[in-house]
Amino acid sequence: MDYRIRSMEEYQAAYQKSVDQPEQFWADVAENFTWRQKWDKVLDWNFEEPNVKWFVNGKLNITENCLDRHLEKRGNKLALIWEPNDPKERFIRFTYRELHEKVCQMANILKRNGVQKGDRVCIYMPMIPELAFSVLACARIGAVHSVIFAGFSHTAMADRINDAQAKIVLTSDGLNRGPKQIPVKRVVDEALVDCPSVEKVVVVDRIGWAVNMVEGRDVWYHEELEHVDKNCPAEEMDAEDLLFILYTSGSTGKPKGVVHTCGGYMVYTDYTFRNVFQYEESDIYWCTADIGWITGHSYLLYGPLLSGATTLMFEGVPTFPDPGRFWQVIDKFGVNIFYTAPTAIRSLMAAGLDHVLSYSLDSLKVLGSVGEPINEEAWHWYHIHVGKERCPVVDTWWQTETGGIMLSSLANITPTKPSHAGFALPGVQPILINQEGQEITENEQEGYLCMKFPWPGIIRTTYGDHERCRQSYFSTYKNLYFTGDGAKRDKGGLWRIIGRVDDVINVSGHRFGTAEIENAINQNRHIVESAVVGYPHDVKGQGIYAFVVCGEEAPTNEENLRAEVIETVVDQIGKIAKPDKIQIVTGLPKTRSGKIMRRILRKVAEGDVSNLGDTSTLLDPPVVDEIVKGAL
Ligand code: ATP
Ligand code: MG
Repeated sequence: MDYRIRSMEEYQAAYQKSVDQPEQFWADVAENFTWRQKWDKVLDWNFEEPNVKWFVNGKLNITENCLDRHLEKRGNKLALIWEPNDPKERFIRFTYRELHEKVCQMANILKRNGVQKGDRVCIYMPMIPELAFSVLACARIGAVHSVIFAGFSHTAMADRINDAQAKIVLTSDGLNRGPKQIPVKRVVDEALVDCPSVEKVVVVDRIGWAVNMVEGRDVWYHEELEHVDKNCPAEEMDAEDLLFILYTSGSTGKPKGVVHTCGGYMVYTDYTFRNVFQYEESDIYWCTADIGWITGHSYLLYGPLLSGATTLMFEGVPTFPDPGRFWQVIDKFGVNIFYTAPTAIRSLMAAGLDHVLSYSLDSLKVLGSVGEPINEEAWHWYHIHVGKERCPVVDTWWQTETGGIMLSSLANITPTKPSHAGFALPGVQPILINQEGQEITENEQEGYLCMKFPWPGIIRTTYGDHERCRQSYFSTYKNLYFTGDGAKRDKGGLWRIIGRVDDVINVSGHRFGTAEIENAINQNRHIVESAVVGYPHDVKGQGIYAFVVCGEEAPTNEENLRAEVIETVVDQIGKIAKPDKIQIVTGLPKTRSGKIMRRILRKVAEGDVSNLGDTSTLLDPPVVDEIVKGAL
């Protein structure tokens, strides 16, 4: 069966079927994969415990679906293109056959070092091809991968290793990041002082640094390679066996180990990849997310490889050697589908148009955005200057916990609108809930976004703590999955995400999403980026505190700048949304996926900086000190 949706009518028909006969709908999609044994029942579920099982008793291996089944038709097709940090270094390409071999070798290295089905493997590696091999190698032998972003501190890593009781760590000597080289293995060594479960460490030589190798524990990847076979049979997995654990980015507190399983995740990432991006067989696809983030799992690796696509992996940063790098890479490889985050778009916007205009970008067909609401200004800039008004922008809303895209337009099929994610994907049944816990049926009304029916990629548990999963997502409203985000539908039923529920500010009885006010502030030509939080205010209940980052040509007189920002907000929203305090900063505290950690800013705004909570997932901790010092 061809499950690519090709028109609005087909979308409507697919959606209707997915609601009327969800089991039949997903069974039809699942038929397209390689199963060692078919399922007895498509779905078993209740949201009370919660207990969700898709493709009950089905047996498969996801890597057989990502690799082996493509070998006959696509063996010589490119599976992975790797572009290094430094454009002077040569890129590397892997066909499906070559990738299959690399994954098998890595799988055999894992086995040789004692890893068995069900063991947890911590992967702490930069964006190098071996990272992709490692992830797939775990899946091949049925080990559970837990990828930890290679920018994290040793404490953040140790916490995650201990939570998962990982047996082995796969890492590299160091990493390249723009003009810098950064140690990686040294961070692992520090973390492992507190991690008794780890027995082995496999080290990839990326930058040729001398590292400390612990006798009996640490081995070099290139030396291990000499001892292993190029073939490794795929382990037969139950559809509900664990595929991976991924810790959420931690914008709101202690990271949770989100668990995904083999069967449902496979079906869902492939289905959403093909349909949202309207992927065609010859397309070159590039997702800029790090594999340490769910987007990298689902839409750099699994989704594209399941679909037999050519996926590009980039080691570097968007601003090295200059802020034209993304566009240069797009032209270099003729990228057709490009998927990135609003934070990257905003930073490239600030670098000026010249960098974009020097490239043709002719190959582009579809643009995607993910991670946070994309403000209107950034949306238009992306659409006009990158997509040349020719490429639809798919604004994809989803979460680590949802495994794959939930709300998004389908490129060139369903409508797009700035600041709106679009319609729900087939199989996704959103519902809006008001403060009293009742359903909101009218459009243009804001509420809490929930899901009333499971989709195949839904979170199964939080690792080692099922109660936490129930508490976090299934206990707020009975029989609903609670996303933690606020949303509304426009007149035509397109979804708009307002932001996290705890990001709503109530000023004299008027409720504002922080995104709405930030959107307005960002319209000011001098502002590159902003973050808004509420703080207790005697008269208004809550006051608005804005942190703003300025461009290079901003007025040096801070008072003038503040007055201008206020004027912009008053123009855009009205007097009621006027920020009470505006602090000018050089950067905002962000997580590895580029999200602003508002809870830290909230503490600063409240004047309570004694305990800023878990800051281990921050990308650039010194930014916080600066903000605390400059607090108003
Ligand atoms: P934590 O749950 O630990 O606080 P996190 O929510 O930042 O971390 P992710 O799962 O990576 O971790 O992010 C999902 C969240 O990102 C969504 O709940 C939503 O708030 C935001 N988000 C993602 N994509 C979009 C989008 N296209 N539009 C608006 N918001 C988005
Ligand atoms: Mg979250």
